[in-house]
Amino acid sequence: MSCSIESYGDLFSLCDNVGLDSKKLVSINQVHSSKIISVKRAGHYESSDGIINIGGNLVCSIKVADCLPIYFINRISRTIGLVHAGWRGLSLGIINEYINNVKKNNERASDNYVFIGPSIKKCCFKIQSDVLSHFDSRFYSKINDKHYQVDLQKWAVNQIMNLNIKNDKIFVIDKCTYCNKDLYESFRRDGDAAGRMYALLGWLE
Ligand SMILES: [Zn+2]
Repeated sequence: MSCSIESYGDLFSLCDNVGLDSKKLVSINQVHSSKIISVKRAGHYESSDGIINIGGNLVCSIKVADCLPIYFINRISRTIGLVHAGWRGLSLGIINEYINNVKKNNERASDNYVFIGPSIKKCCFKIQSDVLSHFDSRFYSKINDKHYQVDLQKWAVNQIMNLNIKNDKIFVIDKCTYCNKDLYESFRRDGDAAGRMYALLGWLE
């Protein structure tokens, strides 16, 4: 699930309220990298942008406001994971890094179901030409000489499919965080005043 909350303490209550055990909670200090950590114990971890929990005995969390929260669920091994993917993460190959971790544990990429939560869509995600070289040219279009718009969701889905996960296992919430002020937080829309939304992932017993 994805949900907007006020503070870190509320994350624990939210966790319990939806039937997940807050004592099993894992959170990370996100830095727009491509680093994935494989966790065996609950707690707060430094400097990474993705969590993998082999066997799925913990509750994973990340926070977002426009970036893509990507949920990975393997119903066979019960392994779960969450990835925080903005354009930097996608450009650095964070999805590939997640799947590398899956394979290290002798699990198959193709056994994963993938959900992409609410995030900024092409209608509102504009970039300037100076950063264009970081993007895959199949997923942006030109607005004018200086500005381009980018489809981050399509770019992510393409990367996921290239890793041997079929389209019918990939689900994308088709709502833009920027456009839907009543529903979602958006950093691009509200700047420093923007709140954050938490993505939570764990197995209900
Ligand atoms: Zn929009």
